[in-house]
Amino acid sequence: MTGTTIFDSILKGEIPCDEVYSDEHCLAFRDIQPQAPVHILVIPRTRLINLNYAELEDKELLGHLLIIAARVAKQESLENWRAVINNGDKAGQTVFHLHIHVIGGRNLAWPPG
Ligand code: AMP
Repeated sequence: MTGTTIFDSILKGEIPCDEVYSDEHCLAFRDIQPQAPVHILVIPRTRLINLNYAELEDKELLGHLLIIAARVAKQESLENWRAVINNGDKAGQTVFHLHIHVIGGRNLAWPPG
């Protein structure tokens, strides 16, 4: 869980991605296995495994990621959408580099599975 992930390779440009937003703190790109018509991942450029590892000093970065998630949703013309962060394998996390899923474009059931 502590090694690098495929997202490091995407950030380095070693693996292509369908980028929708980029700045000095984060990158947003389309999920390769979309679960909805719009499914985008917003990831920090610095690695944080997941929210279990977040410290108070990460608050600016975490706030930035949420604002960018909302900006990306707006860019995609989404008014109704969901931000999802899976923390840990039993919660569905498969890539251990923090990411916000921006999911929308269809009705979303609640509760999630
Ligand atoms: P999670 O299961 O919350 O860790 O989400 C990881 C997400 O990364 C999954 O939805 C995958 O489909 C997605 N993913 C994995 N590899 C890539 C890739 N190369 N490009 C885009 N999305 C990816």
